[in-house]
Amino acid sequence: MGEEYDVVIVGAGITGCGIARELARYDLRILVVDKEEDVCCGASKANNGMVHSGYEPKPGTLKAKLNVRGVELYPRWAAELDFKLVQTGSMVAAFSEEELPALEKFLERGKVNGVPGIEIISGDEARKKEPNLSPEIIAVLWTPSAGYVEVQQVVLALAENAVANGVRFLLGAEVTDVLVEGGRVQGVVTTRGTFRSRYVINAAGVYADKVAEMAGAREFTIHPRRGTLIVFDKREGKHLSCFIGAVPGEYTKGGGPMTTPDGNPLWGPSAIEVADKEDTAVSAEDLRQVIEKDGRFIPNFPTDTVITYFSGNRPATYTEDFFIEPSAKVHGFVNVAGIQSPGVASSPAIAEMVVGIMKEYEPLHERPDFNPYRKRFVPFRERSREEQAALIAADPRFGHIICRCEHVTEAEIVRAIHSAIPARNVDAVKRRTRAGMGRCQGGFCGPRVAAILARELGVPVTAVTKKGPGSELFAGRIEDLRLEKGAAK
Ligand SMILES: Cc1cc2nc3c(=O)[nH]c(=O)nc-3n(C[C@H](O)[C@H](O)[C@H](O)COP(=O)(O)OP(=O)(O)OC[C@H]3O[C@@H](n4cnc5c(N)ncnc54)[C@H](O)[C@@H]3O)c2cc1C
Repeated sequence: MGEEYDVVIVGAGITGCGIARELARYDLRILVVDKEEDVCCGASKANNGMVHSGYEPKPGTLKAKLNVRGVELYPRWAAELDFKLVQTGSMVAAFSEEELPALEKFLERGKVNGVPGIEIISGDEARKKEPNLSPEIIAVLWTPSAGYVEVQQVVLALAENAVANGVRFLLGAEVTDVLVEGGRVQGVVTTRGTFRSRYVINAAGVYADKVAEMAGAREFTIHPRRGTLIVFDKREGKHLSCFIGAVPGEYTKGGGPMTTPDGNPLWGPSAIEVADKEDTAVSAEDLRQVIEKDGRFIPNFPTDTVITYFSGNRPATYTEDFFIEPSAKVHGFVNVAGIQSPGVASSPAIAEMVVGIMKEYEPLHERPDFNPYRKRFVPFRERSREEQAALIAADPRFGHIICRCEHVTEAEIVRAIHSAIPARNVDAVKRRTRAGMGRCQGGFCGPRVAAILARELGVPVTAVTKKGPGSELFAGRIEDLRLEKGAAK
């Protein structure tokens, strides 16, 4: 039997890491487990990173309440945890008189939900804010409180701060069973051991229904809804500063073009119901639809500057609302499920709500030594010439650029590999440093990053993976493979 904890959190996405960091304020032994080798590998790695203002969720839903509260809490998270939060507002466009009633509907919804500053402005006023908008747009629903984050930076900041405050992360550990005795949760069985705990928080994204089932507490069902996003070259990052989208549909906010805090134009997502939770394929049809739909908003955008595309799955429930409740069947088992969009925007409020649920179970005692602050390492590319020279003088590996597109140095990659949440594969290095996120998408730096990983981890390069076991990058040295082939003849 492994170590004992007060709380085990299943899932190291933005929901699980946010909860871990907020619970770390209290005198609790906390373990976060995730089946992947890194944090931020589920829906949290494949989304727009929009801190939606909250005009879209139906009034009275958890989504409506937690979205607006999340927007209020984000500036404090950003200040304490030192991640980029860009608040440039968001727009919903009407191209014709027929679409105006829909804008009015979401204006009213926004007011009921408590969205600050929400208003409808004319197309001309919108073009004063965003000069590249289509001249065909006649009116816009404007919400100034919307913001944007790089979600991987938020999740890493939360996880690092949680670790600094005593939370343990066990990655590459899939939960295969939840222990329940006498109607009370007792812990989890994972592929890396069994861990007893008085509470289990289920933040397993699209798999939350499966984890709940393991506990005998399946009180909801998750059906994955795939969304495809397209990333463009940073050189085109000046076309738009805020998000502009279509009038939301029944099940999605509709997507639209935006620019990420790190400067990449990002279009999409689409919304397609899929049967398989692992189906993150990208189809030509998805891409065509996103390009056609989003191109309407900024018609002069050069769409041939695509650098990559990807899909993620929203963990939708049949009510379309978040499902955040202590289980009615198993004492101490808390479901934090159905966290589809606006899950990123709501994450500080979700964590706050879960702390409230835990306080219903028992009084929580604040730790006097809790440190809410975490300082990010300012990337080499963002520093002044003088600072760069000082870094190189202290460590010559800062003078060795590995990723030419994003100007990532060898020293930063080494730092990522030995950080509080250590990077163990090429994608994990990318999440921490942006190496491979640029125009060539790792064509130049990929093998170099792999070689540094092999050196720092003390493994052969053939053991280095893209994103964990099963995604090995190299079969062997060409010379050795040739010899093997020759020997087999
Ligand atoms: C295309 C797209 C665009 C989106 N855009 C936005 C947006 O702009 N703004 C916004 O607010 N929201 C957006 N969302 C929604 C947002 O991404 C999610 O709400 C959020 O990421 C959910 O985070 P999570 O931590 O709950 O889930 P996840 O990030 O999926 O994390 C769940 C974790 O649980 C782990 N896990 C699962 N099963 C097990 C097991 N058995 N054992 C151990 N670990 C397990 C997984 O490996 C995973 O890491 C978007 C979603 C998509 C798909």
